[in-house]
Amino acid sequence: MPQDAPILIIGAGQAGATAAAALRSLGHDGGIVMVGGEVHAPYERPPLSKAVLADEQQDERIGVHAAGFYAEQGIDLRLGTTVTSLDPGRGTARCADGQAIAFSRCLLATGGRARTLPALPEGMAGVHYLRSLADARGLRAALRRERSVLVIGGGFLGLETASTARAAGLAVTVIEAAPRLLQRAVPAVFSDWLAQRVRSLGIDLRLGCGIASIPPATNGVAVTLTDGSALHAPLAVVAIGLHPDAGLARAAGLALHPGNGGIQVDAHCRTSAPGVFAAGDCTSQYQPLFGQEVRLESWQNANEQARIAAAAMLGVETAPAAVPWFWTDQLGCNIQMLGAVDPTLCYTLRGNGAADGDAPRFLLLGMAGAQLRHAIAVNAGGDLRQLRNLIEQRTACDIGLLRNTAMPLKQAVREAAAALAGQTQS
Ligand SMILES: Cc1cc2nc3c(=O)[nH]c(=O)nc-3n(C[C@H](O)[C@H](O)[C@H](O)COP(=O)(O)OP(=O)(O)OC[C@H]3O[C@@H](n4cnc5c(N)ncnc54)[C@H](O)[C@@H]3O)c2cc1C
Repeated sequence: MPQDAPILIIGAGQAGATAAAALRSLGHDGGIVMVGGEVHAPYERPPLSKAVLADEQQDERIGVHAAGFYAEQGIDLRLGTTVTSLDPGRGTARCADGQAIAFSRCLLATGGRARTLPALPEGMAGVHYLRSLADARGLRAALRRERSVLVIGGGFLGLETASTARAAGLAVTVIEAAPRLLQRAVPAVFSDWLAQRVRSLGIDLRLGCGIASIPPATNGVAVTLTDGSALHAPLAVVAIGLHPDAGLARAAGLALHPGNGGIQVDAHCRTSAPGVFAAGDCTSQYQPLFGQEVRLESWQNANEQARIAAAAMLGVETAPAAVPWFWTDQLGCNIQMLGAVDPTLCYTLRGNGAADGDAPRFLLLGMAGAQLRHAIAVNAGGDLRQLRNLIEQRTACDIGLLRNTAMPLKQAVREAAAALAGQTQS
């Protein structure tokens, strides 16, 4: 690879933009070229299913960096074209518009694409997917025109979209094939709480119902569910997951995870090709907390891997990735999660777990023996921060003290850890 050539960042999204900024703040004063398939400068995707879906004034407020940042930092941002081929050995890339780019190091930050239902393809009348600002604008206009919506998929994205649509006054039906919500991401006790919360807001939730068939509909979208029920609405949002965008990496001969399809990276975000790094939704990484290789689709992971990749590209030491953290705003609640869910954990409630009411507020604490491994905070993000050290350091603690709401959490954390100080840590 030509060592005086710029660093090439492929994908102008969360990870790409964060990596570019990190390269500059770590002192890299050489060239940075960032190529992005969308026409917009990098923007944050979390608001797309929340504030942006409800209010067009938000469209201008979601930039990862301020508008002038890229020019000020000498970052050569090339938008509206994609990198179509990559030759890691020669250090060259070619774009759809014909330009060729030589690079010294390269970061793949290509994100992912919405998984599609073949019977409800993108572009079909009444059918929406939600990944980009363009998608959000299209869906926002449709939600304003119509009075009801079918949301196919009860994952984070489906629930956020359902929640925004319901708050806008639409009749909303959520169809989820699994017997409970967020089956792989949260324990059953929290799935049940979410289902109650969803229903308490007047959303029609169909759990354990797959799509049996999609009969032709002249006006909108019709579906027949596996329980025999027939539904119809003028629009449907399909939110059934994400495929990592790894086609470019595959064609360039990089190793992909055979199961999850992500670009395999090590703890420094290095791929199998020297000089080529990857970060964000497109990657597959070994996560010690999960004890296996996983794909993390989260804002925090994109930022953490971008920071780590930037440091690795420059050969600079940096702190390892923080414990996985995720947040979502939905159903009138801010929900945050820290650590790794695991079916063997035993969950305990701190606070009032009632699902109805204006502002539920509680913590769910997932314990492996005396160790806190996973915590879910509903409208209690500040409390969650106080648990970070216990999870990161796997400190043995007394759960009886932790769940005691008569004691302020800060004191409970201190005393719970002190009570079992000296116990073996794994
Ligand atoms: C609607 C929505 C809501 C979300 N809400 C939350 C939330 O509440 N909390 C949370 O933690 N996370 C949330 N996320 C997830 C979070 O936004 C993503 O994890 C994060 O954006 C991933 O960043 P990324 O850089 O890997 O990918 P992206 O931000 O998707 O950026 C990838 C970019 O690369 C471009 N690209 C792909 N291939 C090429 C190519 N060959 N050449 C050039 N450009 C290319 C794409 O067009 C895209 O612009 C949400 C995501 C969505 C879509």
